[in-house]
Amino acid sequence: MENPNNETVNFIEAIINKDNEAGKYGKRVHTRFPPEPNGYLHIGHAKSICLNFGLGNDYKGLTNLRFDDTNPSKEEVEYVKSIEADVKWLGFDWEDREYFASDYFDTMYAYAQELIKKGKAYVDDQTPEQIKETRGDFGTPGTNSPFRDRSVEENLRLFEEMKEGKYKDGEKVLRAKIDMASPNIVMRDPVLYRIMHAEHHRTGDKWCIYPMYDFAHPVEDAIERITHSVCTLEFEVHRPLYNWVLEDWPDTEKPQQIEFARLNVTNMVMSKRKLRQLVELNLVSGWDDPRMPTISGLRRRGYTPESIRDFCQRIGVAKADSVVDIALLEFCIREDLKMKAPRQMAVINPVKVVITNYPEGQTEMVTVENNPENEAMGTREVPFGREIYIEQEDFMEVPVKKFFRMTPGKEVRLKGAYIVMCDEVIKNEDGSIKEIHCTYDPESRSGSGCQRKVKGTLHWVEASTAVDMEIRLYDYLLKPEEEWESKDFLEQLNPNSLVVMHGKGEPAFKTTKPGDHFQFLRQGYFVTDLDSTPDHIVMNRIVGLRDSWAKAQKKG
Ligand code: ATP
Ligand code: MG
Repeated sequence: MENPNNETVNFIEAIINKDNEAGKYGKRVHTRFPPEPNGYLHIGHAKSICLNFGLGNDYKGLTNLRFDDTNPSKEEVEYVKSIEADVKWLGFDWEDREYFASDYFDTMYAYAQELIKKGKAYVDDQTPEQIKETRGDFGTPGTNSPFRDRSVEENLRLFEEMKEGKYKDGEKVLRAKIDMASPNIVMRDPVLYRIMHAEHHRTGDKWCIYPMYDFAHPVEDAIERITHSVCTLEFEVHRPLYNWVLEDWPDTEKPQQIEFARLNVTNMVMSKRKLRQLVELNLVSGWDDPRMPTISGLRRRGYTPESIRDFCQRIGVAKADSVVDIALLEFCIREDLKMKAPRQMAVINPVKVVITNYPEGQTEMVTVENNPENEAMGTREVPFGREIYIEQEDFMEVPVKKFFRMTPGKEVRLKGAYIVMCDEVIKNEDGSIKEIHCTYDPESRSGSGCQRKVKGTLHWVEASTAVDMEIRLYDYLLKPEEEWESKDFLEQLNPNSLVVMHGKGEPAFKTTKPGDHFQFLRQGYFVTDLDSTPDHIVMNRIVGLRDSWAKAQKKG
C-alpha cells in the first residue's frame, strides 16, 4: 500500500488509508500536536511534529497546534513562545488553528457533570494514599471506595463545591466509576479531576479543580474533531480509558488514539523534566545550549530544519521502542550542508609559519573554490603573504608513518597557493614551537600549470589579515550509555563536552552573522553562534567531517 507521496506506508498511514476506504470521518484527516507548555521542545517532539503535520499535509487534512495546559504553571508564556517558534522553524504551519486546552475547562466541567448524571463518575473523599492503596496491583483486584455509591445529587453537589473552593487540595477527587477489578489497572476508577489551589496562567484563579490528562485529552481531541490522535506507546494501556471517556460524547464521530514508539537517541536525554534540571542546575548555558537535544539547542548548534526533517523521515514510524544512533542525526546535517555550506579557511589551533623567501610587507590574492562539490558556488579571493597560520596538528617535527603534512625537509602545498619546503623549527625557551620557517617555490602557484605533485595539502590563514575567532568545540553532553556507572543521568555528564579554542580565520569571516554555516577544511561543519558580533566572532562546531563515533563503535 502507498501513502499520498507514493511511498510505502507506515502503520499509521495504513490505518488512515483503511479509514478513508471505509469512508470513516468522511475521509477527513485531522491531527494535532499537543505539547504541554512546561519546557522547550526536544528532538523527540520533532518526530511527533513531523509525523502529525506530515500526515495533515500528505492527506490534505489539517493539523492543530494545541497547548495541553491542564496543569497550572507560571512559566507558560516563555514555553508557549518557544514552542511556536520551534514548530515554525521546523517548517510547519498551523495557520489559525492554535488552541489551548484551558479554553475548554467549562466544556470539560459540563461533560464531567454529564458523566455524574449518568452514574459514571463519583466524588471520592479518600486521601490520595488511600486511593493508591486500594487500587490493587497486577495480581490483586482493587477494592471499591466507601464513597462509590453516592447518589447523583450528592455527587453533583460535592463536585460543584469542589469547584467553588470549599475543599483543600487532596480532600476530594472526582473518579470515573468503571471497574475496580479490571485487569487493566488504568481502568480501576481513575481520577478525572483533582483539587489544586493554584493560579493558572490563562485562567487565573477561576479554577481550583483541574482535569487529569486521561480525561482532558480525549475531550480536547473530541472538541477539535480530531480524527487520528497520535501519541507515544506508554499511552497504549490508557486507550480503553480514552474510549471510555468519549462513550457519552454527543458526536457520533469519535477520534481514535494511535500509539507509536517514542524517539530515543544515544548520548541524549529526552525528557523535559531532566532537561530542565540541566538548565536549573546551570550545567548548561540554557535551554538553547548547543549541547542540548532541544530544538532550540540544535538550531543554535547549527542544525537546519531540513536536516531534522530528513532525520525524522529516515527513522520512520514504528510500534516498537528502539534507540537511534546519534550518528544518524550527524549524518543528516552533513548531508544537508555538504552542498550548501561554503568551505572557508580557519585554523583552530594556530602555529605561525614564516615564508622566509617571500617579500616582507607584501600580500597577494589567490583564488580558491567556495565548494569543490558545488561549482555553482563559485570562487573567492583569499590573501596570501609571508606569515601564515597553519593547524598545529598539521606539523610534526618527527613524523609518524604516513604523515604527509608539514615536516622538516619535506614539501607540502598550501591550499590554493604555493608549494613550500619546511626548513626549520624555531622553539621557545620551554621547548614549545615559536614558529616554523619555510621557503616557497614561486613557480608553483596553484592554477599556474605547475606539474609538480606533493602528497599533502594544508589549509592556512594569512597572518596580517587574519580574523580572531572564538571556536567552541562541542562533544556529547552525556557519556555513551555503555559507560554509565549508575542510573542517575546527572552523574554521566561528559566533562569535555565544551572546549573553547582561539582560532584564526580568513578575512571573509569578518562579515559573518549568527546562523551562517561553513565547512572548515578538514575540521568539520561550523555555524556562527548567537553570541557572535563583528568584534568578537564565535563559531560552534556542529559536527566533524568524519563519522568517527560510528567507526569507533564498529572497531570496539
Ligand atoms: P517529556 O517527557 O519530554 O516532557 P511529554 O510526552 O510529556 O515529553 P508533551 O509536551 O506532552 O511531552 O508531548 C507533546 C507530544 O510530543 C506528545 O504527543 C508526545 O507523545 C510527543 N513526544 C514527546 N516525547 C517524544 C519522543 N521522545 N518521541 C516522539 N514523540 C514524543
Ligand atoms: Mg509531559
